[in-house]
Amino acid sequence: MGSEQVNLPGWGSLCQSDQHGEEAAAQKDQEKSAAKPRYEAIDREQLFWRTVNVERLIAPDHAARAIWEFVGKLDLSGYSGEVRAVEGKAGRPAWGPRLLISLWVYAYGQGVGSARAIEELCEWEGAYQWLTGATVVNAHTLSDFRVKHDAALKGLFVQILGVLSADGLITLERVMQDGTKIRASAASGSFRSRERVERALQQAAEQVEAVEQMSEEETSRRAAKARQRAQREREERLGLALEEFKKLEAEASVKDKKKTRVSTSDPQARVMKQPDGGFAPSYNVQVNTDAANGVVVAVGVVQAGNDFEQLVPGLDRVEDNFGKTPQQVVTDGGYVSRDNIVEMKLRGVEFIGPQCDEAGKGQSSYEGRGVSPQYHSSQFVYEGASDSYRCPQGKILSYEGKEERHTQVSYRYRAQRSACQGCPVKGQCCPGNQVTGRSVHRSEELAEVAEFRHKMQSEQAREIYRQRAQVAETPNLWIKAKFGLRQFSVRGLSKVGMEALWACLTYNIRVWIRLRWRPLGEVATAAV
Ligand code: SF4
Repeated sequence: MGSEQVNLPGWGSLCQSDQHGEEAAAQKDQEKSAAKPRYEAIDREQLFWRTVNVERLIAPDHAARAIWEFVGKLDLSGYSGEVRAVEGKAGRPAWGPRLLISLWVYAYGQGVGSARAIEELCEWEGAYQWLTGATVVNAHTLSDFRVKHDAALKGLFVQILGVLSADGLITLERVMQDGTKIRASAASGSFRSRERVERALQQAAEQVEAVEQMSEEETSRRAAKARQRAQREREERLGLALEEFKKLEAEASVKDKKKTRVSTSDPQARVMKQPDGGFAPSYNVQVNTDAANGVVVAVGVVQAGNDFEQLVPGLDRVEDNFGKTPQQVVTDGGYVSRDNIVEMKLRGVEFIGPQCDEAGKGQSSYEGRGVSPQYHSSQFVYEGASDSYRCPQGKILSYEGKEERHTQVSYRYRAQRSACQGCPVKGQCCPGNQVTGRSVHRSEELAEVAEFRHKMQSEQAREIYRQRAQVAETPNLWIKAKFGLRQFSVRGLSKVGMEALWACLTYNIRVWIRLRWRPLGEVATAAV
């Protein structure tokens, strides 16, 4: 049967309209595929108003809220002394210390250490806007606030320790001390000899005078003031550099005095060895950390590159902050010295540190350098009556001098040059020595040092020492890696000390947030 089109009444017209519809749709599809897609245009030239709910700029559990809450617990009256704006008098109100402290603490926690950067962040970043109530605090105010309230800042640090202590976060049972070198705001090339500093100081004084004599027609009043200020600051820095020369030269030997150099950018900075083995202008930041929860209980900044002399001042700072002495102090080998062991014993503080085995160090200067075992220093006989040694060849080694090492005193004895240089066994006894006679050392160890050594052989003491690195080095790592304080942004021992204090109190507030803070919503839920 062939196919036939059956035309039912009404169907013919329907089929025709279907055909038209399909054609139109096909045409539309064709047009559509030929047309370019349209996207939303981005207009960055426009200006618009936006409604912002400042309270909702940050989440309920945001760190900025915790910082604001924590700082609100503190007595900030120490900051009010210099505020000129008072109630009932005309003038713009000052920014409150609670806000400025919160801004700096939040900023350090975010790795921001520049007042100018904070000012910019106040313009658009949610947390800064929440803290300021969507206003902008200028960089000058922030910068001055950071370094102009030395006593108030120290008081603030102690208050924070009081809050953490009351919250059970500090025990002072075990305190670690560690030092870290932080670069100064000075280039290595800024170090000059005394003669150059004196010359520069003279030039600076002349320039200050010349700038002050400039008439207002020559330069605008504002520019003139800025120039005068810059010249005076330079003169002050150079004057300070000369003061530092006096200090350094008083400590240096005659030979070293000529080599003494001081930075003209930051005269109080010192060239110190860095962890990477290089040398750079730096300060030595000493941090004491309570082992219970890793809270920093004291911080100090010193110019000395070594740590030996820093243990006692570190403990003094802890005592000043708490009015009591830690039960135990743990350090690395950089602090282990005879004087420190004795001092800790006197203070009733248990000292834990690695054993620095100095025994035989002086004696071994020959051992290992081709000396035969029968001529090791142990083969030399000490004769107490004459305070001398007798060598295996029967020659006398007389007392020559005393050397104080980290944990012991060492007495040096030496043979006559003529006796050794003509000795038939010299090649076995002191083969490399062409200039003097052979020497040996007699070491004397104090009872306190022997007791320390004995204690550090116990597994219990070693286990405590193993905890040191994690507890003591964590704040230093945070300060450098998280807070970005690898280089100070201010100059001079006092200001640098304040910046270190800001970083450490920020660290402590972070510890409190992590271990104690609960956002308000969570507190309410917990109460239900
Ligand atoms: S080299 Fe000097 S110290 Fe050594 S055995 Fe000879 S004389 Fe004695």
